[in-house]
This record gives sequence, C-alpha cells and structure tokens, in this order.
Amino acid sequence: MGKEGKNTPAPNCALCKFDMPEKVCVSAEGKGGKGCPTLVEKQVLEEANREYDLPDIRSFARNASIQEAECYANRDQRPYIMQPTKTRIVEICEFAKKMGYQRLGLAFCVGLAKEARLVTEILESHGFDVVSVLCKAGRTTKDLIGLEESEMIFQGTDEAMCNPVYQAKLLNHEKSEFNILLGLCVGHDALFFKYADALTTVLAVKDRVTGHNPLAAIYLSESYYRKTRHPEIVSAK
Ligand code: SF4
Repeated sequence: MGKEGKNTPAPNCALCKFDMPEKVCVSAEGKGGKGCPTLVEKQVLEEANREYDLPDIRSFARNASIQEAECYANRDQRPYIMQPTKTRIVEICEFAKKMGYQRLGLAFCVGLAKEARLVTEILESHGFDVVSVLCKAGRTTKDLIGLEESEMIFQGTDEAMCNPVYQAKLLNHEKSEFNILLGLCVGHDALFFKYADALTTVLAVKDRVTGHNPLAAIYLSESYYRKTRHPEIVSAK
C-alpha cells in the first residue's frame, strides 16, 4: 500500500525489475511493475508536464536538455556508442552561457575554500561575475540553534554555525542569476535550496571520508564498505 487511503503502491523505480530497454519509461512497448509512475500516476504527470508551458521553466528545461546532449561527442555516428566528453564544471559554464547568465552565486563550505578559489578563477575566465559566500560567513554562534557543548565539533569554543539561510539570502540580495553549490553538508544544502531565489546546481557534494566522492562508498557497499549496510556499527560516535 502506498500513501494513506490509496491502494496503489508507492513508486519504487530504484527496485524496478525490468532491464533498461524493456522499461515502459524507455520504450513505448515496455513494461512497468507495481506502482510504476509511467503507468499509474497520469494525473500527477499531466500536472508536472503543464509546468513546461511556463516560458521560464520551458527555456530552462530546454537548455538543460540541449546541454545534456552536447556533453556527448560524435552523436551522428550509427550505431551510437556514448562518448561523454565534458566535465561538470564545463557543463555548468556552457549551460550558464546558454541561459545568458552573467552573475553567478557560489555557496561553498569552509572545508573547500581552496576549491572555491579555483572554481571562481575558472568561472571568471569564462567571463562570469562571481559572488561567493562561505558557510561560516556572519559568524553566527551555534548557541542560536540551541546546540549543547557535546554537540559541537570544537568543544570549548564559541563555534560558528554553518548558515545556509544567510548564504542563500545574501546571494538573493546580490541578485545572483544562478547558484552553484560546492560541498555544503547534508541538511545545510537542503536549507540553501529552500531559501535561494535563483535556481541552484551542484558542482560537488561533501563526503569527508572519500574525497567528496560519495559514490565510492556506494560502489564498495557490497565489498570493503559493507559496513554501510550495518547501521549498528556504521554510526559509531
Ligand atoms: S517508470 Fe516504471 S518502468 Fe520505468 S523504472 Fe520506474 S517502475 Fe520501472
């Protein structure tokens, strides 16, 4: 059973049993399992697709899809074997140019300050104006959100909190046209998305253990990082 009062199961595409060419979301003759959102949720789909009638949304989605395709080389070859050719930073630069953005906001983590400098240099070399703000900007004390001493990282100090609401509001104030997130923590990133006026893309997410490559833990979750499947040992304090 899916949501309360509803008999159809909730969508679970992640556990769909059909191979890619057999899926109904990929092929019109394909199949979908219980709760398949291609077969079941027609009303929500129509509602979603109506949003693309809005000129801003349509233009953004259209340019994102054009950019997506342009990230592959030699697309006129048949049969086509995918040949990805553009890094994400290049993808961001090209997409922002397609959208005609000039003023970009960069919201980054104090732990990636060096990377933020490099990213700014790259963006500026492409002609963008960059407004950047670090997570600790404003030096708001963690007391504001009621943290106990034992909940601090640097205990015994007046530790500044990460302030994603300030990061977002400052970039709003600076009228950034498009934002780039670099390494914000889980949860801080979500608050940034909630408060930012401009749409936001992510250059990189934080993973303190894997050099900011969270998929490393996923790829290894059936071998050396099997402990990720054991919450009783993975959350050691
Ligand atoms: S949309 Fe349907 S067919 Fe496609 S992955 Fe989800 S459940 Fe499977």
